Amino acid sequence: MNRIGILELQGDFALHHCIFKDMGIESVSVKLPEDLDGIEGLVIPGGESTTMSLLIDKFDLREPILSFAINYPIMGTCAGLILMAKKVYDSRVVPLGLLNISVDRNAYGRQIMSSTETGKFYFGEEYSKFPATLIRAPKITEVGKNVQVLGSNHHEEPLVVLSGHFLGLSFHPEIDGISIFHEILFDSNSKYFRTNLDQVHAA
Ligand code: GLN
Repeated sequence: MNRIGILELQGDFALHHCIFKDMGIESVSVKLPEDLDGIEGLVIPGGESTTMSLLIDKFDLREPILSFAINYPIMGTCAGLILMAKKVYDSRVVPLGLLNISVDRNAYGRQIMSSTETGKFYFGEEYSKFPATLIRAPKITEVGKNVQVLGSNHHEEPLVVLSGHFLGLSFHPEIDGISIFHEILFDSNSKYFRTNLDQVHAA
């Protein structure tokens, strides 16, 4: 893909640019509806979902993002995952409803409980391990229809979910310099690209 946008209303957007730079993919800032023109994918970063929810409406981004989502992939990390969920157990967040999941905010504990766990990423019958840095992270409490769990923690709780061209992570791969999750959505040359995963899962 040629150019990916990163929603820069608030939060941890800078390190996503570093991941895309290492992947050789151009990434640009999205702050206003017109910034969605000319991009082929979007990242909603971690941060504070209550604030981002307010800012999405303040900058009239809700409808443009939902229209964009019909044709283009969107990845949400941590607060971004919360915003992509269908159901959030906190009325201060008005989610976009792109992923058929329910999430419980801050369910892995407060900032002081932040930790890097070992996650498991499923690729067919094999799995790879990856560091999953959880910072006031949301717990995915329900996974609905058409949502594939691609990764989990040692309690078998989902950490990575994929549904069509929408990907949600409850942790921050950009902090650990991990690009495989960005590759799932945005790099068609990668073995992790979502259409390859579908084939492996279907086999
Ligand atoms: N706890 C934050 C929220 O609910 C998410 C934290 C994060 O993105 N690291 O919005």
